[in-house]
Amino acid sequence: MAKMVNPDISGKQYQEGSLKDWKNYEYYVLARDEYTCQLCHKHGEGVKLVVHHIVYRSQGGTDRVDNLITLCTNCHTTKNHQPGGKLYKWMKAKKKVTKQLKGATFMNILRKRIMTTFPEASFQYGSQTYVDRKNLLLPKGHFMDAIAISGIK
Ligand SMILES: [Zn+2]
Repeated sequence: MAKMVNPDISGKQYQEGSLKDWKNYEYYVLARDEYTCQLCHKHGEGVKLVVHHIVYRSQGGTDRVDNLITLCTNCHTTKNHQPGGKLYKWMKAKKKVTKQLKGATFMNILRKRIMTTFPEASFQYGSQTYVDRKNLLLPKGHFMDAIAISGIK
């Protein structure tokens, strides 16, 4: 999985993990949660998402992905963080994130087959497509991702 995220990985980078940098954690969590607020389940255009620490950093919560979850800014409020708030309850319950990137494992297998069948093909990771699409000011969507992947300026 680490090799899939970073094909140039080697040596002790495997121990550090592919999620060493915060931006990668963020992309991983957003992708895992399918760009959907895990509290109100809103997603799509106009929904601003943030990555939240289930056990707050101030309470010793880590940056591990099992302590991170996607929320929208309407749910990621001061009120929800305070005792009685929904996020406070998640922290006290040590809410478990059970979703995995099973799709990523599948895509890793599929990618190898495609690259074998079409050796002239190239590939790029979703985190790069995300950045490219944002730079092109394109909305979310598979079609828009395809445009971003094309390399158009
Ligand atoms: Zn929400």
